Amino acid sequence: MIYLKTEEEIELLRQSNLIVSTALAEVAKAIRPGVTTLELDAIAEKCIRDHGAVPAFLGYYGFPNTLCTSLNDQVVHGIPSDKVVLQEGDILSVDCGATIHGFVGDSAYTFCIGEVSDDIKLLLRTTKESLYLGIEQAVAGNRLGDIGYAVQSHCESRGFSVVRDMVGHGVGKEMHEDPQVPNTGRRGNGVKLRKGMTIAIEPMITVGTYRLIYEKDGWTTRTADRKWAAHFEHSIAIREGKADILSTFDYIEQVVGVL
Ligand code: MG
Ligand code: MG
Repeated sequence: MIYLKTEEEIELLRQSNLIVSTALAEVAKAIRPGVTTLELDAIAEKCIRDHGAVPAFLGYYGFPNTLCTSLNDQVVHGIPSDKVVLQEGDILSVDCGATIHGFVGDSAYTFCIGEVSDDIKLLLRTTKESLYLGIEQAVAGNRLGDIGYAVQSHCESRGFSVVRDMVGHGVGKEMHEDPQVPNTGRRGNGVKLRKGMTIAIEPMITVGTYRLIYEKDGWTTRTADRKWAAHFEHSIAIREGKADILSTFDYIEQVVGVL
């Protein structure tokens, strides 16, 4: 069931999302060759707790950490580890969730570690652009398929692939609410968007195949052909005319620059 939010609830969601954005900016300050993903996890957890919030992923279906950290060919749900040491040229997708006043913020960003190749920079840029193109379609009266179409057509026009097995979602009191928000679709298809719906749009885009494999830890997904993947996510509220983006990349990009 799709649960429409009041203005007060949307403001609480904005609060939790801005804590997530702040935590991701703290990660941005620390991310460099030689750092481990477990160190980044500790930084994010401290930031979230310092703001009076609780990490939303920690303990979710038994997930062991605050962040999902997915390296290079990993797509989503990577587990932070003291054995994963970032190297020059890597990319790391960092997904973060935080709960305060009963509402869950959810946002993700893919970081470059030092200098990465131009091909991979194009993957990241295209994925981020596709997120904003999807958000442009996320207005009252449009349909979910309009979002998926915008994401998919942009990424495929550059020769990239769109992951199907993982999708965006409604977000609010629960991290994953109805509806599912696919990154593929046909214009004019699917659930009609209504004012007060709050959703997370999160394209997961790959250089090669969109097929995924689960690693042995039961969480981490990676591409079947081991080509690299990017992931960007915003939580938004549907309104008339223009979506209201509740998370922000501004804090991150004040640290690492605009991709
Ligand atoms: Mg997320
Ligand atoms: Mg999400």
